[in-house]
Amino acid sequence: MSEEDIIIGIDLGTTNSVVAIFRDGKAQVLKNDLDEYLTPSVVVHDKKTESLVTGRIAKDIYALNPNNGAATFKRSMGNDQMYTIGDKKYGSVELSAYILKSLKMQAETALGCDVNRAVITVPAYFDEAQRFATIKAGEIAGFKVERIINEPTAAAIAYGLNKRESESTFLVFDLGGGTFDVCIMELFEGMLEVKSTAGISMLGGEDFTQRLMGFTLQKVSVNFEYAEIKTPESVMLLRKRCEIAKRELSDKDVVKITIPKMGKMKEEQTIEVTKEDSKEIFKPLLDRLYSPCRTAIRGADIEPQELDEVILVGGATRMPMIREFVEKIFTRAPLTNIDPDLAVAEGAAIQAALSADDEAVQDWVVTDVASHSMGVEVSKKIGGQRIAGYFSPIIHRNTTIPTSRTQSYCTISNNQTRMGFDIYEGESRYTKDNRLIGSLDIEGIPRGPEGQESILVTFTYDTNGLLEVEVLIETTKKKFNKIFTHNAKSISEEEIKKAKKRLAELKRNPSEKPIYRDLLARAELLYQELISDQKKQLEYMLDSFESALKSRTPAEIKKAYKDLKDLCDLLDGGLRW
Ligand code: ADP
Ligand code: MG
Repeated sequence: MSEEDIIIGIDLGTTNSVVAIFRDGKAQVLKNDLDEYLTPSVVVHDKKTESLVTGRIAKDIYALNPNNGAATFKRSMGNDQMYTIGDKKYGSVELSAYILKSLKMQAETALGCDVNRAVITVPAYFDEAQRFATIKAGEIAGFKVERIINEPTAAAIAYGLNKRESESTFLVFDLGGGTFDVCIMELFEGMLEVKSTAGISMLGGEDFTQRLMGFTLQKVSVNFEYAEIKTPESVMLLRKRCEIAKRELSDKDVVKITIPKMGKMKEEQTIEVTKEDSKEIFKPLLDRLYSPCRTAIRGADIEPQELDEVILVGGATRMPMIREFVEKIFTRAPLTNIDPDLAVAEGAAIQAALSADDEAVQDWVVTDVASHSMGVEVSKKIGGQRIAGYFSPIIHRNTTIPTSRTQSYCTISNNQTRMGFDIYEGESRYTKDNRLIGSLDIEGIPRGPEGQESILVTFTYDTNGLLEVEVLIETTKKKFNKIFTHNAKSISEEEIKKAKKRLAELKRNPSEKPIYRDLLARAELLYQELISDQKKQLEYMLDSFESALKSRTPAEIKKAYKDLKDLCDLLDGGLRW
């Protein structure tokens, strides 16, 4: 493998980040200079060296002096929150870039050559602005970001679930340091699709440690709320000890925690925490995990029994109590043979290897879902009056992407020759509550009475969050077209050109896909051989399949494909007899 071919996979986590590479036929996680796989996603200013520092050392400095550093900044990716470090202010893009840069160096040291290309993972619920912020962070760090993929998708790839023969449904349960994400995915014809996502952005393993700290202090009657009674050093020490105890509780019935002297304590004190205690201590957190699980199941419109596999991701899922919880609510034992905190990076590395081949085959191995609906502003006639400001979604939330959807609109006044499309993203019926992405104006509509001219608006959206809007005046066939990047500066002209080419691929009719084309050809041949009722039946199914392909709606296509394929199998068999 030459240097230019190397693409690494990066799990840019809220708490920890991991880098991996696909080598010798498998994903391998790379260690940092402290010989560890996990690099804490923390940035601090080191007074001694007058420079920024990241990783485990940064985490320790930050614990003592949180005012001089930043952590969990992934949560503000895509917004303009600033963090003060030393006498400077940084945004989450810059801080993430800093982490990515250190991972780049880590990979270069481990591999002994330059590394310039990466696949970076993001939570499935990240919107376009957040995905672009991540791409930008990668570019600042000196990477060419080959692809952004969803964390649960990466985890599923690490488990090889994308290579299963049959159709299956998976659930990814990800409890990290500060976030909880549930995602349901479906494998169909080798494509991995996200069906639904749910989660809590402020719940993770750190909350378990925090509750254990609260419990220990309660035992020695120290009120945790009073800042003046504790020094940063003692709190840091206690947090470290509770973190260790939390991990030990996984396989011990009782653990000891030494509480450093604080508040009215005369000296440090050692207490015991039993497994039974821990069940009580952590119960309120476990209770909060239920609701997102239910939401995800409902969102995918399935029953827990229909899941073929459940996989665990995130360091906190190492806790047996979490595994039991998962087993109970999803009625099956989860897959755990890959380290839960390394699975995402491993999947990213495998995807990186696929990406390298991708350019040649121009095929989409995996797909994601749109995290928000996207559409245009329209006016409605209500009680004879035209009222503006309504949102008309074209791509709905949770639609599998990449996708291309078309909706038709008409002129709203006599002799109207121009039309302005304001493009929004969001879930409200009213555009004022949604987010404006941009606008596209068209002109040259043939004059005529109100409502006569039909204008087709096509939204094509890819997994990197690029939205292409194409407007077609049906009678004149005149086309207008614009690409929205939400953050045009973060992506070069050349990349936009490349992306445009990919989008053009997408707009191609799905019937050009080999599996669909083959089935159509097979059905048509069969049609010639059949007579009467069977012929009618096949014709009906063929028509439904063709109209599903025209609609471009994946769910419809999938269903019609299956119906037609089943019928062909049945009729083929009949003929052979
Ligand atoms: P993120 O995805 O947020 O970056 P990770 O997947 O690295 O986070 O998970 C970090 C969390 O996992 C921390 O809260 C840590 O305490 C927890 N964790 C790691 N190992 C264990 C363990 N053996 N037992 C309990 N919790 C653990
Ligand atoms: Mg994670």
